[in-house]
Amino acid sequence: MNLSDKVSVLKQVGGKRASLFHKLDIYTIKDLLLFYPRRYEDSSRILKVKDAIPGSKDTFKLKIIAKLQDRNIRRGLDILSYLAEDETGEAEITFFNSRFLRSQIKIGDTYLFYGKVDYFKGRVSISSPEFEPINRVKSLGKITPIYKLTNGLFNKNIENSIDQVINLNLFNENLSSDIREKYKLIGKNEAIKNIHYPKDRKSYIEARQRLIFEELFLFELSILKNKVQNKEADSIKFNLDERVFDFIKNLPFKLTDGQQNVVNELFRDMNQGRTINRLIQGDVGSGKTIVAIIIMYLAYLNGYQSTIMAPTEILAKQHLESFRELLEPLGLKVRLIVGSTPKKVKDDILSNLEIGAIDILIGTHALIEENIKFKNLGLNVIDEQHRFGVVQRNLLKNKNKKAASIIMSATPIPRSLSLVLYADLDISIIDTMPVGRKPVKTLAINESMLDRSKAFIKSEMDKGHQAYVICSLIEDNEEFQNLQSVEKVYADLSKYFKDYSLALIHGKMSPSEKNKIMEDFANNKINLLVSTTVVEVGVNVPNATVMMIYNAERFGLSTLHQLRGRVGRGSDQAYCILYNLSSSENSWQRMKIMQESNDGFYIAKKDLEMRGFGDIFGTRQSGIPNLRLADPFRDKEILKYAAYEAKKILSEDKFLESKKYSYLNNEILDFYADLN
Ligand code: ADP
Ligand code: MG
Repeated sequence: MNLSDKVSVLKQVGGKRASLFHKLDIYTIKDLLLFYPRRYEDSSRILKVKDAIPGSKDTFKLKIIAKLQDRNIRRGLDILSYLAEDETGEAEITFFNSRFLRSQIKIGDTYLFYGKVDYFKGRVSISSPEFEPINRVKSLGKITPIYKLTNGLFNKNIENSIDQVINLNLFNENLSSDIREKYKLIGKNEAIKNIHYPKDRKSYIEARQRLIFEELFLFELSILKNKVQNKEADSIKFNLDERVFDFIKNLPFKLTDGQQNVVNELFRDMNQGRTINRLIQGDVGSGKTIVAIIIMYLAYLNGYQSTIMAPTEILAKQHLESFRELLEPLGLKVRLIVGSTPKKVKDDILSNLEIGAIDILIGTHALIEENIKFKNLGLNVIDEQHRFGVVQRNLLKNKNKKAASIIMSATPIPRSLSLVLYADLDISIIDTMPVGRKPVKTLAINESMLDRSKAFIKSEMDKGHQAYVICSLIEDNEEFQNLQSVEKVYADLSKYFKDYSLALIHGKMSPSEKNKIMEDFANNKINLLVSTTVVEVGVNVPNATVMMIYNAERFGLSTLHQLRGRVGRGSDQAYCILYNLSSSENSWQRMKIMQESNDGFYIAKKDLEMRGFGDIFGTRQSGIPNLRLADPFRDKEILKYAAYEAKKILSEDKFLESKKYSYLNNEILDFYADLN
C-alpha cells in the first residue's frame, strides 16, 4: 500500500463510498490519513461522584441501586430515572423518552456512564448518558475521534477505513532527528496514529505539537526559499517619475499621513534600486487602494503592465470604477476579467493583453488562469482583505517571475508575527484613517430594544441613508431555534418596512444574482439589504450608515469588526447595532469590546485573549490553506522556532540541493500541491 493509492483499494470502499469520500476531498490514502478528526469524544476520564464537575461531560463508574418513579412532565415527555452510586456518593441517572432502556439497565449491576453532569435538587445528576456494562465495555473509557461527515457516510465508516492503514507507517519522516530531539517531537507515523486515536490527552497533545511544528516548518521553508530565489532573479525595478507627483496632487483628496508614509517607503525602494515586494497592512477603510493605484501608475510610466486581484467579483467591479475614474483621463487602458466575463469579451481582453494594449487588468481568481499572457507584466497587486494569499501570490508570480508585488491586507497582525508570516516581504503599515471619518457608534442590544432599533433604522433611511441587516443562516433551521435566518428576518422586516425597498442576498445565490443586488445597493436602488456575511469583504457603499447584526454573539470579534467596517465609509455618522440573543456573560463582554473600540488591532488582540479551551482541542481554520492544525496566531511560539530552523537550513543550502536536504524540496512541493 502506498500513500498515493486511491481510497478504493480499501475494503468496504466501493464506488459509492469512494464518491462520498471524494465529497470530503479524500481521494488517496494520504488524504485519508491527513483527514484529522474535527473533535473528540473523551470518555477516558473516569471521575468519582464527589469530584463531578457541573457542566462537564465525564465518565462515571456507578452501581445502580434503585429505579426512581417514572415521571411524565408534560405530554410527550417521559422521564426514566435511576439512583446509582460509587463509594463517594449517589447520582441520579436520567433518560428522556427512552422507556426501551428499562430492559438494558439492571438494579445491582455496575456500568460506565458518560454524560453531562448537573446538580438537581442537591444531587449529582447525569442526563441521557451513553452507558455500557462494566464487564462489556467497548467504546467508552477512551477518546473517540469524531470526523466531519457527509450525508450517507458515518463516523464508523471513516474509522474503519483508517483502521486498515493506520498501522502501516506509510509516511517518511520529514523532520531531522536533530530537530526532533531538540524540540522533543515524536515521529511522523506515531503522530498520525495518535492524532486519530489518542490513547490519552498527553499523547494527543504530543501528536498535535509534532504536526503543528511540521506544518509551520514547511510553510516557513517554502516562503523563505521563495524569498531567497526571488532575490537571485534580477527582478523588475521602477524609476520614480515626476508625473506621479502631479497625479498625487490632483487626487480628489489629500493623502493621510499614514498613506503618505507608505508611499514614501515605496518610493525609497525605487530610489535605492530595489524591487517592490511589500505587504501593506491597514485597517478596513484606511485607504489602501489608492496607494496601489499610485504604484500601478508608476509601473505604467515605466512601461509595464500591472494586475490587481480582488477576493470577490463585486469588489473587482468597484475597483474597475475607481481605477477608470482616476487613470483613464491619463490615457491608461483598464479592463476587468472575472469568472462571469463572456467568452467573446475575454478573448478580446486576452489578445489586447498580449500586444500590450491593456495597461491594468483587474480581476478575481480568474486572473491566474493559464491562458492569460501579458506583454510586459511588471507589478502584481493582491487585495486579500483578511485572507492570507500565500498561494495566489505564488501563482500570480509565475506569470512573470520578475514582477514586483504588493499585497494589501486588512488583517491586523502583530508586527512580530507578520515578520514571520510574510517573511518574504517588506512590511508597511497605514496607521491613520482619512480625516472626517467618524468612528462608528456601536450599541449592543437585547430583545427589549428591538423595536426601537428598527425605528432607528427607519429614521436613518428617511434621511436618505441605506442600511445593512446581517444574519448568520440562510434558512430557518429547527436545530438552532435561537438563530435568526436571513430568510425569516427578511420576511419580518419586509412587513415592518413596507414603504422601503428591501433585498436579500446570501452566499448560495449565483454570482450574477449577487452582483446585480450589490450593484443596485451601491446605486441606492435598495434601501435595506438583508444579508449573510457575504458583504464582509470590501464593498464600499458610503451612503450606508447603519448596520444591524442579528445573533451578534455567533460571530468572532474580528468578523464583527470586518462587518462593521462596511458602514462609516462616508462623512456621515454611522451606527452599528449588535443584536445579542444570548444571555451568556462572555457574549456581553465581547459586545462591550466592540462598543469600546473601533481599532481592529485592539479587537484582534482581545479576540485572541478570550478564545476558550475549545480551540486547544479540535481544529479551527487558520485561513491559510494546508495548515490543518496550526494556527500562526495561537501557535506563534512554535512558529518562531519553526522559522528559525527553516532559516538555518536555507543558510546552509539555499536551493535545498544537497543530499542532506534535497528531500525537503518534495515536501514543499507537496505542501503547495495540497493547497489546491
Ligand atoms: P481599504 O483600505 O479598506 O481598502 P479603500 O481603499 O477602499 O479602503 O478606501 C476607503 C474609502 O476611503 C474609499 O472611498 C476611498 O476613496 C477613500 N479614501 C482613501 N484615501 C482617502 C483620503 N486620504 N482622504 C479621504 N478619503 C479617502
Ligand atoms: Mg480594500
